[in-house]
Amino acid sequence: MVNIILIGPPGAGKGTNAKQISNFYSIPHISTGDMFREAIKNQTPLGNLAKTYIDKGLYVPDEVTINLVKERLSCDDCKNGYLLDGFPRTLAQAEALSIIGKELNRPITHVLDIIVSEDVLINRITGRLVCKKCGAPYHIDNHKPKVEGICDLCGGELVKRVDDNADTLIERLKQYHMQTEPLINYYKNLNLVYSIDGNQELSAVFNQIKSILGEIK
Ligand code: AMP
Repeated sequence: MVNIILIGPPGAGKGTNAKQISNFYSIPHISTGDMFREAIKNQTPLGNLAKTYIDKGLYVPDEVTINLVKERLSCDDCKNGYLLDGFPRTLAQAEALSIIGKELNRPITHVLDIIVSEDVLINRITGRLVCKKCGAPYHIDNHKPKVEGICDLCGGELVKRVDDNADTLIERLKQYHMQTEPLINYYKNLNLVYSIDGNQELSAVFNQIKSILGEIK
């Protein structure tokens, strides 16, 4: 069984790799960013609150995010493994996750740290498009859909994320370096970290991930 965390800065390819891992290993892909975007679309109280932070490139408060993940990890479909994408992002979240993992007997087994150089990140984010309906990611140069503006998977409309603009990106990178990067050491001390070279072609990145997780399939 694998209970995975994907860590990496915005644009590292967490979403894309998460979808591949989730399909290959048949485990749920839990993205707090996707959960917040869904809540924003449905204009729920959670969505309205999250929007005020996300639009500025800031993190949603820990308490809100931790409760959301706790509820999701308790679901039955997580009993044979799960993949967290974009959570934890702060030390408080990592500590809470450790307690939740113990309570549910679903502790983290692997932390995949996707390492990408800053110029590649900026190019990926500024050229990124996502499907409005299913969230699948594309890129205007490197990962074009078969039909312009239309998702290959579900036929949904491809749009730019509101927070994928140069100003918000600077703030998101700052938040990542300040709050999330320290988690890598936290998990290194627990011997859970595997470094992934995220500058490679998508297929090479996924092959590297499979070679790490491979034997559990
Ligand atoms: P993502 O799709 O993972 O890039 O997340 C988009 C935005 O949602 C982030 O820039 C944060 O504002 C918010 N967010 C997602 N996950 C978290 C989290 N674990 N903690 C706090 N904020 C989060």
